[in-house]
Amino acid sequence: MIAAYVYHGHGGETLRLLHLMQLEGVKPNEITFTSVISACANVAALEQGNQVHASIIKNGYIFYDKLANALVDMYSKCGKLGYARQMFDKMPQRDVVSWTTILAAYGKQGHGKEVVKLFEQMQMAGIRPNHVTFLTVLSACSHAGLLEEGLHYFHSMSQDNHNGILPTAEHYACVVDLLGRAGCLVEAHDVISKIPFEPTADIWGSLLGASRIHNNIELGECAAGHLFELDPHNAGHYVVMANIYAAAGKWEGVAMVRKIMKDRGVKKVPGCSWIEVNKISHVFSTGDRSHPKSEEIYAVLETLGTEMKELGYVADTNFELHDVEQQHKEHALCHHSEKLAIAFGLITTPPGSPIRIIKNLRMCGDCHSATKFISKISGREVVVRDSNRFHSFEGGLCSCGDYW
Ligand code: ZN
Ligand code: ZN
Repeated sequence: MIAAYVYHGHGGETLRLLHLMQLEGVKPNEITFTSVISACANVAALEQGNQVHASIIKNGYIFYDKLANALVDMYSKCGKLGYARQMFDKMPQRDVVSWTTILAAYGKQGHGKEVVKLFEQMQMAGIRPNHVTFLTVLSACSHAGLLEEGLHYFHSMSQDNHNGILPTAEHYACVVDLLGRAGCLVEAHDVISKIPFEPTADIWGSLLGASRIHNNIELGECAAGHLFELDPHNAGHYVVMANIYAAAGKWEGVAMVRKIMKDRGVKKVPGCSWIEVNKISHVFSTGDRSHPKSEEIYAVLETLGTEMKELGYVADTNFELHDVEQQHKEHALCHHSEKLAIAFGLITTPPGSPIRIIKNLRMCGDCHSATKFISKISGREVVVRDSNRFHSFEGGLCSCGDYW
């Protein structure tokens, strides 16, 4: 039952069931704990994860392989890289999953150099990387801008007799992303043209994303053309393409994309952010006013907005699709779910304590820049785990170095 709730993403219910199970006198075993820990990881419920970790130790299951791997993953997904590393270092045996988990932990925090170092150690320890490991390493290189290293590992995975792993669509998507982020858009397009199978939506998606970062309309249109065929109901692609046009002031392009979306009945995926305060997860969607503390939240954002502007913050309205007046755009931007969750964190957690947020989509550029200002004004560390990686904001800077 617990596994079923985990599978369907209902983390909170899992913990209630574990509690009920213990009340009924049924002793959880290592499999129960593994499920519960992965639920905590998915919703980044650190306090609850800590509690379950304590019961695991009490019950003597701490060195059960799968459970130890799940704990490394849980601490990593809660942004606690130090704890994840401690768990990893203490494991009596490390298999390919343990190594891949710790590589992913460093990768998501943007520590690409450490990933490369650990990956070399892993191979020296005689553990053969599998295709997931390569994917993790490539993605880490991409997020840290390690172009040469990434390309080297990409070529080594199939060429070395050692590994002999044929790159899948996911690996290609990663290497296109790696090249694209680094500004090598033409090379990225070249890689796509040489793929021995029909390129997937993810691969074109990487090229589209890179075209957005580097404002390349031509390659953006090329990628979008494929995506609108391959993945016609994914609103994300339309929004990115519209943003490319918007950034270049091509409003007729924006209107065209919006018309295709409307004709096909494509709806935008709502952005949602989560924050755990006193062991309760609070969810916010864009412009959400359903939370009991809404009034205070919006008041805090209002005050912050004024202070931010004094420090030089300018709303980056490129990220708001609607070509309405400037003022309205700024208004829509300041109510993105991550800003609401951060404001809630500011009013409900003790001064000076870190604020941890999860977002279901990629963090938008404006929220990213606003959060830098908020970390400076409030003197708080703000950690945001978006669909791609971790951003750790402190004193006006982000750990990703604005490269994400
Ligand atoms: Zn935003
Ligand atoms: Zn960042």
